[in-house]
Amino acid sequence: PARLLLQVRVAQVTPNHLLLLAEDLTQARRLEAIRRDFVVNVSHELKTPVGALSLLAETVQDAADDPEAVRRFSGRMRAEASRLSALVHEIIELSRLQVAGALEDVAPVAVDEVVAEAVDRARTAADAKAVRIAAAGDRGLVVFGDRNLLVTAVRNLLDNAVAYSPRGTRVNLGVRRRDDLVEIAVVDEGVGIAEADQERVFERFYRVDPARSRDTGGTGLGLSIVKHVAADHGGDVSVWSQPGRGSTFTLRLPVAEPRATDASPAPGSH
Ligand code: ADP
Repeated sequence: PARLLLQVRVAQVTPNHLLLLAEDLTQARRLEAIRRDFVVNVSHELKTPVGALSLLAETVQDAADDPEAVRRFSGRMRAEASRLSALVHEIIELSRLQVAGALEDVAPVAVDEVVAEAVDRARTAADAKAVRIAAAGDRGLVVFGDRNLLVTAVRNLLDNAVAYSPRGTRVNLGVRRRDDLVEIAVVDEGVGIAEADQERVFERFYRVDPARSRDTGGTGLGLSIVKHVAADHGGDVSVWSQPGRGSTFTLRLPVAEPRATDASPAPGSH
């Protein structure tokens, strides 16, 4: 839930009357609070992989004359290091989004290209679990925005859909135009999300099941990044889910009218 930052002052104006002044804190104070929270969270999140790395390094040192153990533990060090690097990458991305609040490279972006690139990048993880990703729907739609950020957002949704689904299931990505919005829906047949968690999954570092998220290499930042990207584009993201049956994440973005030179088929023709 959104927090309201109020500064309340009370003055006793007569023996029987209190004056209550409530002031909404400025945007600057609010941003400062967000940043302070963020730094605390980040330090906490960084401690886990750094602690694991240092323990593993000690273990490797102690096992110096056991080549098999050295191989095993240094493999785990590499996995831990790559998790740490993914985390740092997402922290930087999110803090950039939080601070800027506005897009830098805005241009007409073809939704087809965003989807194709995101699917392409999610494919390695999907193949490893025999999860099939299929994209379908309206073609030729254009939005205004930052292409890279949009690819990141769709990819985060796909990566989650794959990560929280059993082997051999399907992930469907559907695109359609609804009035002045483009809807990109990512539908999975995975574990789903309980009603009480559905709002919270968009919070920074929130994970429904920290142990599972850790197994999947999750950082708890993916959806928070999607939410920021959506908002910066004048859109939003929402979730619909039935625990045990799957989840649907829908990203909505304002449509830019197709360019006059665009010879794409009309929406709905695919
Ligand atoms: P993470 O890196 O942990 O995946 P996210 O911000 O991307 O972080 O997601 C937050 C949490 O929301 C996840 O830890 C997971 O519990 C839940 N979640 C996200 N996507 C899905 C999904 N498609 N199916 C089930 N749970 C999901």
